Amino acid sequence: MNIHEYQGKELLRKYGVSVPDGKVAFTVDEAVQAAKELNSNVVVVKAQIHAGGRGKAGGVKIAKNLDEVRTYAGELLGKTLVTHQTGPEGKEVKRLLIEKGCDIKKEYYIGIVLDRATSRVTLMASSEGGMEIEEVAEKTPEKIFKETIDPLIGLAPFQARRIAFNIGIPKELVNQAVKFMTGLYTVFVEKDCSIAEINPLVITGDGKVMALDAKLNFDSNALYRHPDILEYRDLDEEDPKEIEASKYDLSYIKLNGNIGCMVNGAGLAMATMDIIKYYGGEPANFLDVGGGATAEKVTEAFKIILSDNNVKGIFVNIFGGIMKCDVIATGVVEAAKQIGLSVPLVVRLEGTNVELGKNILHESGLNIVPAESMADGAQKIVDLVGK
Ligand code: ADP
Ligand code: MG
Repeated sequence: MNIHEYQGKELLRKYGVSVPDGKVAFTVDEAVQAAKELNSNVVVVKAQIHAGGRGKAGGVKIAKNLDEVRTYAGELLGKTLVTHQTGPEGKEVKRLLIEKGCDIKKEYYIGIVLDRATSRVTLMASSEGGMEIEEVAEKTPEKIFKETIDPLIGLAPFQARRIAFNIGIPKELVNQAVKFMTGLYTVFVEKDCSIAEINPLVITGDGKVMALDAKLNFDSNALYRHPDILEYRDLDEEDPKEIEASKYDLSYIKLNGNIGCMVNGAGLAMATMDIIKYYGGEPANFLDVGGGATAEKVTEAFKIILSDNNVKGIFVNIFGGIMKCDVIATGVVEAAKQIGLSVPLVVRLEGTNVELGKNILHESGLNIVPAESMADGAQKIVDLVGK
């Protein structure tokens, strides 16, 4: 789960990571009021959306007086901001962060991620702040420094110092930088983050080390033990279909293709997406209905797929183990009855109660194309949808 920059900064502050003073605003008047309270000559008006690249897209404005705050807040609120991370449809700005302007002397990059290759939390840093780290990694990989963190010891002070020296933090600010990194690491571990990225981290004219941006991402599977983080959830930023799916405990992720997939088991779901692509199609979603799904859950899953206007065909690929094929069939028929089925449907069923399942589908009178195997099913749905 993602949170907004201002929420991330609120959390970082609690962990002793310094961030500029700032306040969230939902209206232009709130923005002006917040700027007054900040009592600063320069304030920054920042669009709060769950995507980066706002600066380049005009979502970060420097205001030199309250009139400018009013103007920029008015321009940004309600605007659809398109950045390289939002996709072409962009995201509507509904909140602003009004923040003290900061006298930036130099920008750096600091990020903490879980490195799948070493299975360790890894601290990454670069002197090339403010730029996209992917670009730095591609063009000047020698400018990225990493420290692999031992989970028993945590981030050792010498590792933080080594990073600080490597990226060229001035000597007199190294201790501040170490405190910063230690705080960031502690948030990451205590709150079960999957990413904690500060881009840019800055040193200021008056000798401070600060986070000017904050991107925190949390492991959704750990949210049950962080009710405080769950309060930061902004449903406006999430796909409505994914929200609906989470109510029924379905693992659903919307994708950009046109073939809806309903599958049981994450591994089979991945394989199904692969095989659709192999035959030249594009999956519209990842959907794992899970092992012990009820007919009701299957019905909801099918409805979610059908509610996606991009879906031009559906491939149901089920291996009945714990999941029984007749339950799946009942759910599919029920959903089709409730909202109608206007696109081709290919079904491949195998395993527990397969004959029962096939009968239910057959007797439903729905226009279903049966498939003999995964490959057969994938080929059929790709053909039906048209490449
Ligand atoms: P994004 O990564 O979405 O573009 P950032 O928060 O990183 O947004 O802001 C983009 C740039 O705007 C920063 O690299 C920095 O140069 C400038 N900036 C952001 N916040 C402030 C601030 N409080 N004071 C001065 N400049 C800022
Ligand atoms: Mg940034």
